[in-house]
Amino acid sequence: MNEYVKRVSQSLEQKYHHETEYLQSVQAWLEMIEPALCDDSRYEKLDLLTRMVEPERMFTFLVPWVDDQGIAHTCHGYRVQFNSAIGPYKGGLRFHPNVNTSVVKFLGFEQTYKNALTGLPIGGASGGADFDPRGKSNREIMRFCQSFMTALYRYMGADTDVPAGDIGVGSREIGYLYGTYKRLTGRSESGALTGKGLTYGGSKIRQEAAGFGTVYFLARMLEHQKDTLEGKCIAVSGFGNMSWGVCRKASELGGKVVTLSGPDGYIYDPDGVATQEKFDFLLAMRQSGDDRVEAYADRFGVEFYAGKKPWEVPVDIVIPCATQNELDVEDAISIVANKVRYYVEAANMPATATALKLLRLTPTILTAGSKAAGSGGVAVSALEMVQNSLRYSWSRSEVDRRLRCIMSDIYDASAAAAEAYGLGYDLIAGNDIAAFKKIATAMIAQGL
Ligand code: GLU
Repeated sequence: MNEYVKRVSQSLEQKYHHETEYLQSVQAWLEMIEPALCDDSRYEKLDLLTRMVEPERMFTFLVPWVDDQGIAHTCHGYRVQFNSAIGPYKGGLRFHPNVNTSVVKFLGFEQTYKNALTGLPIGGASGGADFDPRGKSNREIMRFCQSFMTALYRYMGADTDVPAGDIGVGSREIGYLYGTYKRLTGRSESGALTGKGLTYGGSKIRQEAAGFGTVYFLARMLEHQKDTLEGKCIAVSGFGNMSWGVCRKASELGGKVVTLSGPDGYIYDPDGVATQEKFDFLLAMRQSGDDRVEAYADRFGVEFYAGKKPWEVPVDIVIPCATQNELDVEDAISIVANKVRYYVEAANMPATATALKLLRLTPTILTAGSKAAGSGGVAVSALEMVQNSLRYSWSRSEVDRRLRCIMSDIYDASAAAAEAYGLGYDLIAGNDIAAFKKIATAMIAQGL
């Protein structure tokens, strides 16, 4: 290992040994970008790596709120402003009980490198709270969002830091957050948040973008193999926004998503999640706030496997869409045994370090990472910011066309960097190297 990489990695480990997700994502990235480090002596001279793997700024705040029974609760809120080399901080907010400093730092780190290749001027950020939206009433959600925003509003803005949604934060939450931001600042600053509703500055296709983007990226991988999605079976995890978009676009292109999962287990639908009724049911399931996928099995009469993960099902393509570390080494072993041909990450860091290593090193499986394949959502967020600044709104087909071009450009940049560094068709390393070089160049140009 390169001496400089080793030093940076060891110093992080000493300082943040308890932040496992954060260390995992940074260490995997350091390994990927190592071949590019000898390109420019300034990377080390300016200690660029330390400044690239640690957030520029981060803060925590308390979020007190009162439930419908009048009982007071105190949650912990976070915002990590990770890197602003190429634009204002940009990234989602996650409301989930497992949110902590390690999770928001890993998300902010991944977001920085994900955003870099969209070709749009956005830096990287992340944030959220350890609030559990499960089973909460609409009024409780609204009060929580209002309290959260009173703590965050002075640190964000269209040219400063632009939050959006993530797990537990959808269009309803963005509406309440935006409404509170507007009241507190007295400004209709639509570019301050993305994922807004279509009636007040949101972009068409934003809701679909995360899943559509992943399938557009996958389509380029298939094309490279002179293959198509036609007749392919896909295993997907989760049943949120990302999974919904993947099901829709995959079925439009002739593929068939046969699994969905939740914390309770997974469902297997041999006919595919491929009808409008099923797509709509996914949205209703999500909106119910129940976080149970079994409801799908009850509704459509398909098998439900309690407490199991969908990776045991033999398919052509695997797309993890749920959350970090949802796929471990045993899952990777069954994916290999099932002769899966494509492994495309939609969620952030869905595989453990060893699982990912195993999948990447299996020559019959083509792999793509979430910093490339999972960037459709934020790409359309950036397009939403463009439309807000133009005070204009593009048509569905215009946004979709731009999303498709962006995903295709990310694919090209990843494949080209892998090729240039003698890494063959390693899209994960290629993507990390291309994004690293872009941000490094911007940071060097702007001085210390
Ligand atoms: N959390 C989302 C992502 O994966 C949204 C980020 C954004 O739109 O700013 O990239």
